[in-house]
Amino acid sequence: MIEAVADRRRLQAFYQAGKVVLDAAKLGTEGGRALSYRDARLIDAAVRVAIDDICEDPQSALQIRRCQQPQCSKIFYAQRKNQKYCSHRCANKVASLAYRQSHRRERATRERIRYRQKMRQRTGPNVKVGRQ
Ligand SMILES: [Zn+2]
Repeated sequence: MIEAVADRRRLQAFYQAGKVVLDAAKLGTEGGRALSYRDARLIDAAVRVAIDDICEDPQSALQIRRCQQPQCSKIFYAQRKNQKYCSHRCANKVASLAYRQSHRRERATRERIRYRQKMRQRTGPNVKVGRQ
């Protein structure tokens, strides 16, 4: 159920037979709800209560999300409206991957220069350094 909410998927749950009771004497009064479900099995009652909770507070339910970091995909409860990742660790992982991909050329050039300098220190200035 939580996974269906996190993935914004459709969920179907089948019920055993039970009954629904409308106590009209309680309509419009303070004491208790007029409508009550007498489910035959505890699991039916649990599913009904859980689904009611999700539907009665959709803003909270929409905070249930799946982490957008591909190797994580953990379900989490978002603290902020635009939160995409379960943790700082996952957010940093995605951000550093994006940075490395967008700066690939500069990083490669820097690494080539560093390698050449390192080889020159080891072999002396007159040796031509080839590819790594
Ligand atoms: Zn994560």
